[in-house]
Amino acid sequence: MTEAPPRVLTVAGSDSGGGAGIQADLKTMLALGVHGMSVITAVTAQNSLGVQGAWELPVEAVRAQYRSVVDDIGVQAVKTGMLATAELVETVAELLSGTNAPVVVDPVSVSKHGDALLAASALDAVRTALLPVATVATPNLDEVAQLTGIRVRSEDRMRDAAGAVLEYGPKWVLIKGGHLTGDPGREGGDQAVDLLTDGIEEHWLRAPRHDNRHTHGTGCTLASAIAAQLAKGQSVPQAVTAAKDYVTGAVAAGFALGGGIGPVDHGW
Ligand code: PLP
Repeated sequence: MTEAPPRVLTVAGSDSGGGAGIQADLKTMLALGVHGMSVITAVTAQNSLGVQGAWELPVEAVRAQYRSVVDDIGVQAVKTGMLATAELVETVAELLSGTNAPVVVDPVSVSKHGDALLAASALDAVRTALLPVATVATPNLDEVAQLTGIRVRSEDRMRDAAGAVLEYGPKWVLIKGGHLTGDPGREGGDQAVDLLTDGIEEHWLRAPRHDNRHTHGTGCTLASAIAAQLAKGQSVPQAVTAAKDYVTGAVAAGFALGGGIGPVDHGW
């Protein structure tokens, strides 16, 4: 009998195209040697062109999945992704307030194609219920703007944005500055720059930026990789550094699929 690997739970939406959401999370977990489990919050009809439809699950279905996993198998880290509605955000936050496992919150709101993955009415619940239970929150610059009103256009502003997110209560925040690069009117060079901080320590993470447009699932993959590394016992800075390396490789290996934006690759 082999020893069981660390157990990691993703609480997120399904992407029928297999590039993001639950599907990306479970692929990441397999690649990083942990046992992946899922609480599905919503189902999307989705492909490389965008999201054609989305349906959230009833609150009882989300609660029941969570209890089944936690009461029997147990979890060593949790990751949250698409939560769709204020009611689901509040339910998930309440469930997670009872766990000792580290929680990685990816405050997903809009897909790369501009499709809404979170109701506008749910933003307040993310701020006041979900962020307080996060060990690490991983907003990108658009999510930072929605959550805090701060529009980051330079690395200096990333520090202000991080402070504003930390006010909501996560222990750490990882501001993903990838969008700083390549956007007209925004500073940035050929590197993807992220800032990880708990308000005391500051870690600036830099990775070469790849010109690959097939980046569907990047955010889901990063948050899942952080959760996997935390489940293996790494500290938050170690876990985020290792996860960033993983996602950099996955983006470099992203491939064309369908007629639009293809997924990052987990088999590199
Ligand atoms: N679909 C689902 C179910 C997701 O959870 C996410 C991101 O978290 C996306 C789509 C968007 O992925 P991307 O913005 O990388 O295309």
